[in-house]
Amino acid sequence: MSGGDPLNVTNRRLFAWLDTLESLPQLTTIRLHTRLPLVIPARLDDALLTRLSQSRCHIVMVIHCNHANEIDALTAEHLQRARAAGITLLNQAVLLKGINDSVAVQTQLSQRLFSCGVLPYYLHVLDKVAGAAHFDNDERFAIELYWSLLAALPGYLVPKLVRELPNKPFKVPIDIYNDR
Ligand SMILES: *Cc1c(COP(=O)(O)O)cnc(C)c1O
Repeated sequence: MSGGDPLNVTNRRLFAWLDTLESLPQLTTIRLHTRLPLVIPARLDDALLTRLSQSRCHIVMVIHCNHANEIDALTAEHLQRARAAGITLLNQAVLLKGINDSVAVQTQLSQRLFSCGVLPYYLHVLDKVAGAAHFDNDERFAIELYWSLLAALPGYLVPKLVRELPNKPFKVPIDIYNDR
């Protein structure tokens, strides 16, 4: 469930969707992409976590956190509860100039996520969308930063460096050996 925020609906509606999905025998995994745990941590309420923990499917939740400062004590507590409920927690971030484009900030982000039971999954270079140019880093910069992250963190805390390309049905890995 993605492309919008599936946790923006009531538990009642969400549980009805889950019932429908779980009735499809070919499904083994249900994935939710959401920023709600960061903006309204209490959205991971007991009823939701209980329902997810009782699913016959493996539940994967991908949060979209760009900076360790987005995770305060309340967010951390709810993420840890989700982890304890058996949910696989992953994070995807966007590399943003002046926000999280340093080794220190990326390292803090990975470590903060891990302390809450979340593994870094993707680090995206920015999509070329109108109005966002001031957040853009060139690809060479992103690659150099990535090499520093590889040196600074254990492998499981280094997200995949990717870019979204038109007409590609997956995130394209950035060639970190390019020109090196
Ligand atoms: C990338 C992405 C997906 C697909 O994720 P994969 O793990 O690459 O299959 C789904 N939803 C959102 C919002 C994404 O950004």
